Amino acid sequence: MSLESLPKSLRGLRACLLCSMIKSIDQFEQDGCDNCEEFLKMKNNRDVVYDCTSQNFDGMVAMMAPEDSWVAKWQRITKMCKGMYALSVSGTLPKGIIKDLARQGISYKPRDTSQR
Ligand SMILES: [Zn+2]
Repeated sequence: MSLESLPKSLRGLRACLLCSMIKSIDQFEQDGCDNCEEFLKMKNNRDVVYDCTSQNFDGMVAMMAPEDSWVAKWQRITKMCKGMYALSVSGTLPKGIIKDLARQGISYKPRDTSQR
């Protein structure tokens, strides 16, 4: 697995609003989201990082073998990269980005499970 996907420090951590991966804001800015860069294009764009990630999240799961983990199935992240994931992320993606995703056939479900 690549250590690049793991948060380098516990400061300034944010969770991706689309896949709930947790990294530091600098990592999101430098590398984008491992799962969503194709759609969210956060690389080198701190404004987009702020829009598409949230510092408000609950719980952390370290996902080392997404393909055969029941936690991954439950979190709907079986097809995603190894790394740290939040259980619940507060906030939603900006409307414009949700529309872009829909155009690419991706239906966005907010990751906030705290108020179901
Ligand atoms: Zn993501």
